[in-house]
Amino acid sequence: MSRIFSGIQPSGELHIGNYLGAVRNWVRLQHEFESIFCVVDYHAITLPYEPDMLRERRHAMAVSLLAAGIDPNVCTLFVQSQVPEHTELAWFFNTITPLGELERQTQFKEKSQRQESVAAGILNYPVLQAADILLYRADTVPVGEDQVQHLELSRVVARKWNSMFGRRTGRTLDDGTEEREAFFPEPQALLTPTRRIMGLDGHAKMSKSMGNTIALLETPEQIWAKLRPAVTDPKRIKRTDPGTPEVCNIYHLHKAFSPPETVEHVAHMCRTAGWGCIDCKKVLAESMETELVPIRRRAAELAADPSRVDDALASGAAHCRAIARETIDAARERMGF
Ligand code: ADP
Repeated sequence: MSRIFSGIQPSGELHIGNYLGAVRNWVRLQHEFESIFCVVDYHAITLPYEPDMLRERRHAMAVSLLAAGIDPNVCTLFVQSQVPEHTELAWFFNTITPLGELERQTQFKEKSQRQESVAAGILNYPVLQAADILLYRADTVPVGEDQVQHLELSRVVARKWNSMFGRRTGRTLDDGTEEREAFFPEPQALLTPTRRIMGLDGHAKMSKSMGNTIALLETPEQIWAKLRPAVTDPKRIKRTDPGTPEVCNIYHLHKAFSPPETVEHVAHMCRTAGWGCIDCKKVLAESMETELVPIRRRAAELAADPSRVDDALASGAAHCRAIARETIDAARERMGF
């Protein structure tokens, strides 16, 4: 059975981009695969942060994930910093990752442009990510589209490490070289149909660090205050202008939250100018409510019982530490330690 690994940064609240691009998929996949999900707090510190805020957000992220349907009886949920082997493997990988591969990562370029002084952690972010995944020798990684390039790098790292340190199998390959064991699998991304959700400004991807999000646990009033002014089809200026649903961010959210017959109706009313954008947004808000009400209710229950969350994270970390130790011991031995 394949093992799944995926992570999310506690750098802000879990938003509907994270939910639609990744977490909703995790909830489904946990029943089909051995699944490990991680709150990646060592990744979150690559951008400036407040320590007290980090503590709060780490817990809040775990609450949001559990409320969204991650079930610690079915899968494993843990916090990255509770398993120190992540940084040990990341260091090993740092020593073999080509600098050029890191410098050409789109996320590195974007994040470093927004900083006055660029920390090496932003550059090495995908190396830690490769370590997160490969520590559990996971071969499937359910993520949003923004992570596809990082996963390509994970495959480069796995391949390179295997070719340098994998045990010799004794067989000779067609090119005359000796075959090595594939100790680390080459992990593949698993995308959802909503692989890239744009922010409410309609310009950049929805992201915790961009302030253009709707958090999963916001109240209906907060959600409406954000949906109301959200960017729609830019060519639809007057109420009577017919719209083009395919270019509208709100329509894409309908496709994620509304039933198919509503999506069809929305598209028709937009194209014929039967509805204005506000009418369309009201229907979206209702569809979102249907999905978010039970999530909010579970979050309130969990918030009232922090020990339930802490217990789930502690047993998740214990489980992961055991797997991580085995991988690290095997890797150390092969690398000459
Ligand atoms: P953020 O960019 O909000 O900090 P993370 O880096 O913590 O998000 O990513 C957590 C997961 O959510 C990843 O699998 C990522 O691909 C996914 N994700 C993040 N933003 C989006 C988005 N706008 N649309 C789809 N998926 C996303």
